[in-house]
Amino acid sequence: MKQKLKVGFFSVLLVFAMLFSVFALAACEPTDDSSGSGSNTRPPVTSDTGSSGSDSSGGDSSGEEDDSMREDLGADAVEYKFEAECCVISGTNTECTTGCEAQVPENLMPSGGLYVMKIDSDGSVDLTFEIWAETAGPAVLNLCMGRSDKDVPISNMFVIQINGAQQRSDVVYKTAEEVRYYEWQEQDICKFDLVQGKNTIVFSKMQQGSVGMNFDYMKIVTESKVEWNSEHEAGGHNYNWSITAPDTSTAGMATGYCEYCRDYQEVTLPSLSEENGYTRNAEGNDVTWTYTVAEIVTKDGPATFTFNTKLNSQDFRFECETMVLKNYADSIMPNDTVRYGTEGNNPSGGLVVMGMNNADGSITLTVNATADTTAAFILCIGRQSASYQFNATHTLTVNGEQATIADDVVIASANGNTWVDWAEYTIAEIELREGENVIELRNNSANPGAENSAPSGNMDYFTLRVYDDTTVLTQVGAITPEA
Ligand SMILES: [Zn+2]
Repeated sequence: MKQKLKVGFFSVLLVFAMLFSVFALAACEPTDDSSGSGSNTRPPVTSDTGSSGSDSSGGDSSGEEDDSMREDLGADAVEYKFEAECCVISGTNTECTTGCEAQVPENLMPSGGLYVMKIDSDGSVDLTFEIWAETAGPAVLNLCMGRSDKDVPISNMFVIQINGAQQRSDVVYKTAEEVRYYEWQEQDICKFDLVQGKNTIVFSKMQQGSVGMNFDYMKIVTESKVEWNSEHEAGGHNYNWSITAPDTSTAGMATGYCEYCRDYQEVTLPSLSEENGYTRNAEGNDVTWTYTVAEIVTKDGPATFTFNTKLNSQDFRFECETMVLKNYADSIMPNDTVRYGTEGNNPSGGLVVMGMNNADGSITLTVNATADTTAAFILCIGRQSASYQFNATHTLTVNGEQATIADDVVIASANGNTWVDWAEYTIAEIELREGENVIELRNNSANPGAENSAPSGNMDYFTLRVYDDTTVLTQVGAITPEA
């Protein structure tokens, strides 16, 4: 790839060797004497040189030339930059592409990190910029090109059309002084009129001979507000972020390019804490941290970064057969493998609580907590033949207050051995206080007298998952079951 580029530019050299030294007026960087390059046998080149090459070596006058192009733009005219790598490349030249070659010197890196290269390879190339303008008005087109191994008149490189009208320019990019192709130089090219709304600027590669420079960006100087048409239609920037995530002790970093304008943003993401400006949201042991940077406004509002962490957790298991039971038909049963003849489906502790289909049947656990804490209430249940929504049939209270059981807590139907197909379900998140806590699971939709007709299931154990690594839970008043 690199080799091809070099060959391309050298072939260019043979065709147009050192043109237009007489038109040095157009160069922003004055060169008093261009004779050192040794080439003075140049073919004439068609060009509209309205002002003729009257000023061959005046740095000052070239400055005046630039200024005059901007003279009538109005006092509030400012420069808007449009990266060439964001334009639409079309045509038969398949080598013309967006990139940044490895040999670009560190101090000559292009704006936005990329440029358009190999414009001079075989085939046609159209580089199309669709720009939206808030108001109509005069503007100046400025191009930043990487100077080549010869003087390149911009008119030998491109036909420039703005809203269908061909633009004329005498501007010449002089031979690079030291580093060919990457000595970036901005020059005002022509003055034109923006129309309100979409403006289409097309740079078409000249077919006669190949004259190539790398193309870094285009600027429009105007009093109107202008931006990429795609960005305007999207409603603002759209950054593609590359993120090194922070954690609770280390800061991270986000770098982003807007896909429309290649605006570059670098954001330090402090370590995860509310003191550092994060919004913290915990659900179970999943914590979501949200960081908003108000100064970076995207099409979706201020730039927002979210990160997830997990809290430490401890599980405390309590067997249902050791709890206080009320209104049970057959209460505790021994190892269900005996009753159902399904060896290998033994419940935890060898026993379960049955018959919870009785009206107001309940199981009550009392635990002592060494600190106030939040816990997940997890139930191990022997599933039955049909699935059911748990909050339609059961109520969970903690210290007399009803816990919220989400509608999506659904006990699935048994996968195989009905009633002894043990499975854990996270039923609710509950708050425990330091000291004793009374946790009651109640059946509130029983159908007395019709055994097994109401949705329930055999109750094996409760697990309380505490989201810290210090709190200790111990059962109070555990009953020794009779097997
Ligand atoms: Zn943008």
